[in-house]
Amino acid sequence: MNNVTVLGATGSIGTSTLDVIRRNPDRYRLFAATARSNVSRMLDIVAEFHPEAAVMLEEKAAAELRELLAGRGLKTEVLSGSEALSAVASGDETDSVMSAIVGAAGLKPTLAAITTGKTVYLANKESLIMSGHIFVDAARRYKSRIVPVDSEHNAIFQCLPEKEQNRIGHCDLREAGITKLVLTGSGGPFRDRDIATLAEVTPEEAVSHPNWSMGRKISVDSATMMNKGFEFIEAKWLFNADPGDIEVIVHPESVIHSMVRYRDGSVLAEIGVPDMRTPIARAMAWPDRIDSGAEALDFTKLGGLTFRAPDFNRYPCLKLAIDACNTSQALTTAVNAANEVAVQAFLDGRLRFTDIYTVAAKTADFFTLAPADSLEDVLNIDLAARSRAFSLLGNLGR
Ligand code: NAD
Ligand code: MG
Repeated sequence: MNNVTVLGATGSIGTSTLDVIRRNPDRYRLFAATARSNVSRMLDIVAEFHPEAAVMLEEKAAAELRELLAGRGLKTEVLSGSEALSAVASGDETDSVMSAIVGAAGLKPTLAAITTGKTVYLANKESLIMSGHIFVDAARRYKSRIVPVDSEHNAIFQCLPEKEQNRIGHCDLREAGITKLVLTGSGGPFRDRDIATLAEVTPEEAVSHPNWSMGRKISVDSATMMNKGFEFIEAKWLFNADPGDIEVIVHPESVIHSMVRYRDGSVLAEIGVPDMRTPIARAMAWPDRIDSGAEALDFTKLGGLTFRAPDFNRYPCLKLAIDACNTSQALTTAVNAANEVAVQAFLDGRLRFTDIYTVAAKTADFFTLAPADSLEDVLNIDLAARSRAFSLLGNLGR
């Protein structure tokens, strides 16, 4: 029995993970679930899965949950605060951790799981983007297995030889005969929209992804393609790739989830319907296969598969993140922090869509040469970049 802690259990990935657990009760037990503040959703989770512990980031939410659980005679222990997130991620009874908090808040609990040698199913790409080599070095040192959940990286994982699957974070792509990792991306909801009108798009338009159903932050990141830029950085670290080994292609149908090119001309792809339960089930069951609930792909209904080169005029955030990846860890950390601030401001109606790029680029500039060798360094850059991004909002805000 695999005792799983789900960080970010009330979110989009959390909900899909719980569905995979629900379908495979002989293999998985929910040990602990965490959330920021959604008490009613957490109440449903506890009532269904009876985990040992539930953590709410906010104590007010935890108190409310405790009262509701007592009223129903449910025995799950309720904890609160960010230290408790790390405690359930690293506790002895946890075998594996689904890292599915959104944003930088996922870093500390994910690292807590890694430094206690847990198997980590990684959805929270921001933690890896912020900390890069610190993250993968810790995984090697503490013998923690990282299994990619992000659909592109999970697809690449599936196309790798077993030897490389066993050393995520420290692959040797040359030895495996790999020449390129090909990341596909749909191009988001604005891939055909007149670029001149992008400044006016609304949050509701930006979160309406054509193919995937996801949380609001990653949906905006998909619309700017900052998400694909982050995935470029994520691929560099997960697969120990040089930036020159990674290619980005716009593939509007989202059927091919990513590919691997080999030196003999073979290209391996993982394809399927866009449903995150597939990569989640692949990550959790590896090397076995289990039911995920995803529909079978119906080839006769696919009109066709199309591809385009990404247009950096339409997606300047994609270029910004790739350039950051080519430059320094400090830059990727700063871009991640500034983007988080800018996306939240956009979702709150305080910033234009196109100024997400402006905030991220103007913040990043400042940090190119900052040292980013330790966890303390990257947390300092994260804080300083947030504060700089906030100050830029004042000038750009609507
Ligand atoms: P979401 O917004 O739907 O859920 C986020 C979860 O994190 C919620 O449970 C929320 O309570 C919790 N949370 C938010 N802020 C927190 C904080 N400060 N402290 C503790 N918990 C907090 O997000 P999502 O779409 O499920 O994405 C989660 C992560 O997975 C992100 O890093 C995203 O990039 C990645 N990811 C998501 C998808 C997808 O299809 N949704 C695909 C690939 C990768
Ligand atoms: Mg992805």
